[in-house]
This record gives sequence, C-alpha cells and structure tokens, in this order.
Amino acid sequence: MGKSSKDKRDAYYRLAKEQGWRARSAFKLLQLDEEFNLFEDVTRVVDLCAAPGSWSQVLSRVLIKNEQFGRCAWEDREAKFRQRMLNVIPSEPTTQEESQQQEQKDAEMGNIPEESGDRPDVKIVSIDLQPISPLPGVITLRADITHPATVPLLLKALDPCYDPETSTSQQAQHPVDLVISDGAPDVTGLHDLDIYVQSQLLFAALNLALCVLKPGGKFVAKIFRGRNVDLLYAQLKVFFEKVYVAKPRSSRASSVEAFIVCINFQPPEGFKASLEEPLGVGSRLSELQEQQQDPISQAEPPKAGDDGITEVILEDVSGSDNKNRWIAPFIACGDLSAFDSDASYKLAADHVSLPPVQPPTAPPYKRAIELRRQNGGAYGKSPNRCTQ
Ligand code: SAM
Repeated sequence: MGKSSKDKRDAYYRLAKEQGWRARSAFKLLQLDEEFNLFEDVTRVVDLCAAPGSWSQVLSRVLIKNEQFGRCAWEDREAKFRQRMLNVIPSEPTTQEESQQQEQKDAEMGNIPEESGDRPDVKIVSIDLQPISPLPGVITLRADITHPATVPLLLKALDPCYDPETSTSQQAQHPVDLVISDGAPDVTGLHDLDIYVQSQLLFAALNLALCVLKPGGKFVAKIFRGRNVDLLYAQLKVFFEKVYVAKPRSSRASSVEAFIVCINFQPPEGFKASLEEPLGVGSRLSELQEQQQDPISQAEPPKAGDDGITEVILEDVSGSDNKNRWIAPFIACGDLSAFDSDASYKLAADHVSLPPVQPPTAPPYKRAIELRRQNGGAYGKSPNRCTQ
C-alpha cells in the first residue's frame, strides 16, 4: 500500500505526521486526557512500552513544553487541527520550511520554547524493548517490563540516589504520579493467544506501577477486551478508587483495543508490591479481593460527561463466579466530530504525503531484509530458492 493511500485510509496517521508525532497513538493519549484530565498535578510519569515514543512526546510537550516548538505555536497548531476535524477540511501539508517559519514567528512574538515548563521537578521515564530515539526531558530505558530486573533500573532512573544493594523496591519511595502503558505484543491473528499475551503485558505493567505509584496516583493501560475482562476490572478495583474502560475515537472501533483508566491508587493495608512475587490472575489478587468488601456494592453508577458526548455502555457479565467480577463503566472519549478512525477521507488534489516523523530504529524485520539482500534479493542466489 502506498503512503498516500494510507494517508487517505487513516486520517490519524496523516495528522500524526503533520503534527510531528512519531505515531498515531499520540491522539489516543490526548483523547484520554481530554476525558480524564490525566495530567492534572502530574510531574513524575513512567511510560511503559513506549517506542517509538509518541506518548512520551505528548508528556514532553504537556509537562515540559519544550519539544520542537513553543507553547503558543503548539496551541495554534492544536486550534488548526480542531478546526479541520470539525469542518473535515483536507489538511494543508506542513513542510519543514513552514515549521521553521512558524518557529521564527513565535520567537519574534516572544513565544520562545521554554527550557522548562511551569511544573517543577518534572521526571519522565520511558521503557521499551526497542530503542527509543532521544526526546527532550525524557529518560529512555531499553528493558523488558516483564523482567524483575527492570524495577531497580526504573527506580534508579527516577532517583539517581537509589541503591539496589541497600534498598528493596518495597523500601524505595513511591514517587510516581502516573504510569501509562501502551503495551502490545506482535499480533499473531490468533485471537485468544493475542489477548492472553497482551494480558500478561498488562499485568507486568500493573506490577511495575504498584512498585512506583504514590497513593492517589493514576494508571492507564491498553487492554484487549476478551471474555473474562470483568475479572481484571474487579482486581484493579482492589487498588484504585475508580476504574473505567475507555475507547478513544482514534482507536479503531473494529479493534478489541481499549484502555483501562484507574484513578486514585489506594493500596490495601499492609500490601507490599514486589516483582519477585508479582500479582496475576489466580494468585495473591484473589486473597486481596477476599479481604476487601464486595467491589460491586462500591461501584458508582457510570455518568455521561458534561459535554453530552460521552457514551456510557455497560458490558455484559456472565459466568458463575460473579463475586470476583465487576462491570467497569465504558466511556467512549474524544470529540465525536473528530475523524472516524475506520473511515477513508478524500485527500486534496495537491496533497503531499509526508515521510514518517521517526523511522523505526531497530525494526524486527531489519535483519530479515539484510539476510535477503545478502542472498541477492527475493529471487537471489540462495540454493533453497527456485530460480526457474
Ligand atoms: N505508546 C507507543 C507510542 O506512542 O509510540 C506505542 C507503543 S507500541 C503500540 C507497543 C510497544 O510495546 C512496542 O514498541 C513493543 O516493543 C513494546 N513491548 C512489547 N512487549 C514489551 C515488553 N515485554 N517490554 C517492553 N516493551 C514491550
């Protein structure tokens, strides 16, 4: 598929390139923030499964406001973006030259990119298996979030004085306001397997979050909604006052993807987070749930947003073990007049397809391409190939 046809098929892919985001996922986080005000009073954030880094870009722009362009230029671009979404006007391509002109205009008007924002002590740590190209104000780590060794790495990145020899994760301070995770495995197409592997990533993210979140903190993570997802919602309710499942408009309606948004971290009394003894389905979680009151009786009825655009849908709960199941309010977020991520849009006749903002640094297919080249290409000299 050509770049131009992908531009047409996926409005958010095109907008991401125009606005300088490394991936279209940036819009998911922005739309979640629109609904849940995720960044309010937040200065210390951990971004899990962060490559290529569009969520970290959002954090850098919102918390530090020093990435690529000043705040005024950014707001101006936002306004233009909203205008286009409301009127569904085909976009004008933004060239590098135009960006530079905008930056110069901002500088003349005194809108110089700030070295640091108005939030003190901002700390953003981003982790992925893949390398993440540097971003201003973001500490990037290449690590596996399912591995226990990642906790001390993360704690050290958050606090350079942290000494893993003398401290344990339990003793370390819990300094983080928000943990976000967009973790996804390489999708196999085998529905149940994909959902299972994704749930393992989600539990790894939750376990890491429990080690670093401070009371009152927030946790946002991608989920693939499967059959027993209500068990997971009930388990999250053990740790957080409010748990929602949200679907941003930029996430394709046809995809099982959604995001859990957990607000106000309240660890049960005496709970000690540890990656040596992680939580997972059927383990310590059930005991913790037993200790708590029935979460169903604590559940708040879901409310529609004040803007009248929020849909609230209750998911069906079936199965006998209803004590450990809980229905999380389902919230569709993002302006309903925004682009539909499943639709194709007509491009302007003079539309120019822009190159990706950040080409993959170490794509898994890179080695395969190298090997194929060594073999003289797809129809090359490999003895195993049929050259007829
Ligand atoms: N939020 C990112 C952004 O905005 O650019 C996109 C994340 S992408 C959908 C999913 C990422 O999960 C991939 O970069 C993948 O390398 C990462 N991932 C999968 N398993 C992981 C693991 N065990 N540890 C760390 N990262 C993992």
